[in-house]
Amino acid sequence: MRNAEVASLLNELADVMELLGEDRYRVASYRDAAMRIDHLGEAIEDVAREGRLDDIHGVGKSIAAKVSEYLSTGRIAALEERRSRVPAAALTLMKVPGIGPRRALLIARELGVKSIEDLEQALREGKVAQLPRVGTKVAAHILEELSRISSRSQRLPLGVAMSAAQEAVRELERSSAVLEITPAGSIRRMCETIGDKDILVSSTKPEAAIAAFTTMPLVKEVLASGETRASVLSHADLQIDLRVVPPESYGAALQYFTGSKEHNIKLRELAIRRGLKLNEYGVFREETRIAGQTEEDVYAALGLPWLPPEIREDTGEVELALQGQVPPLVGLADMRGDLHAHTNRTDGSSTAEQKARAAETAGYEYLAFTDHSRALGVTGGLTEEEFRKQHEEIRSLQPRFPRVRLLCGVEVDIHVDKRLDCSDDFLAACDVVVASIHSALEQPAEMQTARLIAAMENPNVDIIAHPTGRLLGKRPGYGLDLTALLDAAVRTGTAIEINAQPERLDLNADAVRAAVERGVMLVINTDAHHQSQLPLMRFGVATARRGWAPSDLVLNTRPLGELLRWLARKGQTGRSPA
Ligand SMILES: [Zn+2]
Ligand SMILES: [Zn+2]
Repeated sequence: MRNAEVASLLNELADVMELLGEDRYRVASYRDAAMRIDHLGEAIEDVAREGRLDDIHGVGKSIAAKVSEYLSTGRIAALEERRSRVPAAALTLMKVPGIGPRRALLIARELGVKSIEDLEQALREGKVAQLPRVGTKVAAHILEELSRISSRSQRLPLGVAMSAAQEAVRELERSSAVLEITPAGSIRRMCETIGDKDILVSSTKPEAAIAAFTTMPLVKEVLASGETRASVLSHADLQIDLRVVPPESYGAALQYFTGSKEHNIKLRELAIRRGLKLNEYGVFREETRIAGQTEEDVYAALGLPWLPPEIREDTGEVELALQGQVPPLVGLADMRGDLHAHTNRTDGSSTAEQKARAAETAGYEYLAFTDHSRALGVTGGLTEEEFRKQHEEIRSLQPRFPRVRLLCGVEVDIHVDKRLDCSDDFLAACDVVVASIHSALEQPAEMQTARLIAAMENPNVDIIAHPTGRLLGKRPGYGLDLTALLDAAVRTGTAIEINAQPERLDLNADAVRAAVERGVMLVINTDAHHQSQLPLMRFGVATARRGWAPSDLVLNTRPLGELLRWLARKGQTGRSPA
């Protein structure tokens, strides 16, 4: 499929035409055609072969001819001729807000600027400010935009993007012009990092909805504002985009803007095979809209059951859905407890009592306290003697929390020589033992795998926490033979954690999928260091769902009695099922 390739050339042609000062309507029509071809949902080369290029909305004779020319000869003469008339760097420069085509040409020609790095240097040296019709004020603005571009293009962790989106949703919900609202795009699919923060609204008064959006208190700057869409920059320098659609198209738009692109392409192929047309406005038979108001309608019109956004990645979900099946996924409401939490006795910042209360409020049946063992000096890890005292204190709290079983445990460190940081006697006396690696992260993969497997072979170890050690955007995680780890988990009957801290999400969704395929028992824990972190569970559950995990493979969906039997099953000593 060569759609993206064709679209990018048409976009380049539009850019060059703009640099050369050609008719802006023609420039806009090339950009529009590029966007439509990119989102077409069927291969542009097939469309061309069947002589249907003219049928694509926004593609007229002249653009169709250029697309055909490119597909058959590999070049577009009109583009090559124009390219030779502009400096290549001007194409990059014109994309920087505040520069535009004229200044881009000027900067490239007069200053010999060849890249964004060159531009930044020329700005800092004051050379740009000296150009005609620029001046210090404009130059300072361009420099500011440059630094903003680099921070804006970064993908954000789901947790950060989600709270920004939710803040905007809360604001907009107060407007009477907003009928339905939801974050769309990768936020709705709960991807671990987020690029675009898209919000979708249905309204019969789009101007009022746009006005409500651009005047939210969190808005620092309005980047763009049109009839049905707008973009703003928040005070935290996050870009948030809004789209407003009529109620009858809300489901289709939600489906379209949730993506993923690959999932949508599959759906559009399916629509075409059924003689239908699917786009962001609805599902159409000829000119008649047969679905569009709800997502369920849209999927049903294609002969599919509704699919959870977290699995819309074209990794087999559409094929399964065609057989009327949707993989059974664990849900937040299935979670009955949390088996990894810290208190202020080590690096946590709230007491056992505060956490127990938070667990009670969350409606949990159990909560495990698993502070760090001694080896983790920086966090004030506890000695076995200190743990025994803490466990006594926790047990004495129990009568005040009749609805939540407080479990006494430890997050025991796995030394580089594979030893555990606590004695077997002590571990056997704990209700829950979580084992993890926090040191010697640079060791080779075989070594880390051996460390984790040795821990799993200890009959007292119930859970391997944050198994790969990655920190999103900070470090990739230590080397690890994931397959060997998962096989050992099955063999030893050890649960593998999905750590719900937004910077960890460890295991990630792909690894969860591999674990599910092997029937590994998973556990979703928040690793809460403060009582306010128990709700982070949603991010762990989302990661589990993205990895197609069913609830019966998630240990902490089990009722207390079953959980205790599972915990007692591996280590035979020191535990009773009741
Ligand atoms: Zn840890
Ligand atoms: Zn921890």
